[in-house]
Amino acid sequence: MNWEQAYRELWKEYSRVKTEYERALQRIRELESQPRNGATKAPEVIATEVASPANYEATLRRLVKQIGAILQAEKVVFMLYDPEEGELRAYPPAYGLTDDEIRLLRIRATQGVSGEVFREGKPVIVHDAVTDPRTAKELVAMLHIRNLVCVPLILEKRDEENRVVERQTIGVLHAFNKQRGGNFIDEDVRLLERMARNAAAVIAGMRLYQAILEEKEELVHTIESLRAGLILVHQSGRINQMNAAARRVFGLGPDVLGKHYTEVITNEVISGMIRTALEEEKEGDLVEITVQLDGKEHIYQVQNAIVRGEDQKPMGTVMIFNDITEIRNLERMKSAFVATVSHELRTPLTAIKGFISTLLMDSEDAFTPEERREFYSIIDQETDRLTRLINDLLNIARIEAGESLKPVYKLVDFYTLSKKIVMIHRQATNKHTIIHDVPENLPKIIADEDKLDQILTNLLNNAIKYSPNGGEIRVKAWEEDPDHIIFYVSDQGIGIPKEHLTKVFEKFHRVDNTDTRKQYGTGLGLYLVKHLVEVIHGGQIWVESEVGVGSTFYVRLPKVPPAVKEGKEQVEK
Ligand code: ADP
Repeated sequence: MNWEQAYRELWKEYSRVKTEYERALQRIRELESQPRNGATKAPEVIATEVASPANYEATLRRLVKQIGAILQAEKVVFMLYDPEEGELRAYPPAYGLTDDEIRLLRIRATQGVSGEVFREGKPVIVHDAVTDPRTAKELVAMLHIRNLVCVPLILEKRDEENRVVERQTIGVLHAFNKQRGGNFIDEDVRLLERMARNAAAVIAGMRLYQAILEEKEELVHTIESLRAGLILVHQSGRINQMNAAARRVFGLGPDVLGKHYTEVITNEVISGMIRTALEEEKEGDLVEITVQLDGKEHIYQVQNAIVRGEDQKPMGTVMIFNDITEIRNLERMKSAFVATVSHELRTPLTAIKGFISTLLMDSEDAFTPEERREFYSIIDQETDRLTRLINDLLNIARIEAGESLKPVYKLVDFYTLSKKIVMIHRQATNKHTIIHDVPENLPKIIADEDKLDQILTNLLNNAIKYSPNGGEIRVKAWEEDPDHIIFYVSDQGIGIPKEHLTKVFEKFHRVDNTDTRKQYGTGLGLYLVKHLVEVIHGGQIWVESEVGVGSTFYVRLPKVPPAVKEGKEQVEK
């Protein structure tokens, strides 16, 4: 499954950046603890705890101040290279400069002493900034620079054995104006170079920290908004992440991070999976758990994986919860569908075959012409039933494939159409009283007559089918407003339980858990009807029902379908 792969990648990336960050921290500490040679002992400027932007800033602030003190310079400032702008820019904190001065201090990497030091990677001392041809005169004037020393800020990446594997110049570090009118000397350069290494490491750490924060933030947001539930449990058993979907599964609030999983996860299957993963380094098989959410049963498929660091050591376990309730329901309905469709196909076929065989065997003309006629008409009806079923299936397949059923719109007189359909259905039953309650002057509408016929036929068939004890069936219609008509088909049958009222329009959905519902069907009829009402006619369909009392299916149709109104479809004459 590719999501699992994706989570692993995410976590890997996160741990990679984290490791890099920790390495950088370690490096800063090492730099600080290294014994220093040289005449002047460099100060222990870097605090051991450099773990937040505020700390980094404080560390840098101390550093520039101490550089000022050691070099006896009036001002100390570092400039970082911005590759997008191609310029070197001063950043706070600085020593002896105002915030405005820091903001204004920028120079193209091709210009001035700063540019030269940055490009060449070699330190420069300027004894007279005003006359020296290399200096940028407006900056010299702005900062009242007399003399200066400038060294590159070089970031060194090292491998495990502390060998330098990569060097990158990220900017420059300046000290301006030796106090008491003095001049900077080579010893100052060496000192400044050493301090520059520290500064570069701190700046790099700060940048990395920022990048990690951003990346982490992004990761947390991504995880939080996933539709699947996700839990990350650290090797210590503490919950590292538990997104909204996962908290929902266990009915938990957002305050679960950092808690031990045994405190939070009560489901034994799940906590068992976590235990096995953490203690035995074993990934569990795919399991399914059932939980009650808002009074409804939800089925989750749960899978876990061991998360390993780059060194292959387990770092914890990640667990994914996928809500497969819908899929399961659909699977269940599909198998029921296969059973019912086979039955639906076999019933008419059996009848057809039976009557044809009977007729074939009748070599002596034992049946009267009337009897033969009856047999033929049964065969005829059963063939129609088969055709209907096959058409339904074909239509479903078309809808599923995204092809809308092609509408043929014309002016339809609902009164005449419904009267005809009611008459046909009266033939089919002697248990029911079918009342045609449609005003003769009901305004004509633009509709697809065949499909409207299908809608009404389906609803009437159901009304008969689901009121096995007979009763009254009514087809009523009226003009709702100048733009719409409403019609309904009501029965006094077995009714539909509340929780099924919206679901009966779903594909394959059948209410069939009681003995009174031994009516065969495919669960496709209402799905098709809904499609015909909504997609072809731009109307609405809904049902009101009470178990044991009866059902009323309402259909509301615009007098002109939206497709015609918008000019996308023509009306046939
Ligand atoms: P089918 O009748 O082939 O099962 P439908 O899509 O036409 O499929 O109907 C879906 C379900 O809705 C039926 O199985 C039945 O339980 C319920 N139903 C439909 N019409 C009625 C009705 N008039 N009275 C009671 N239940 C109904």
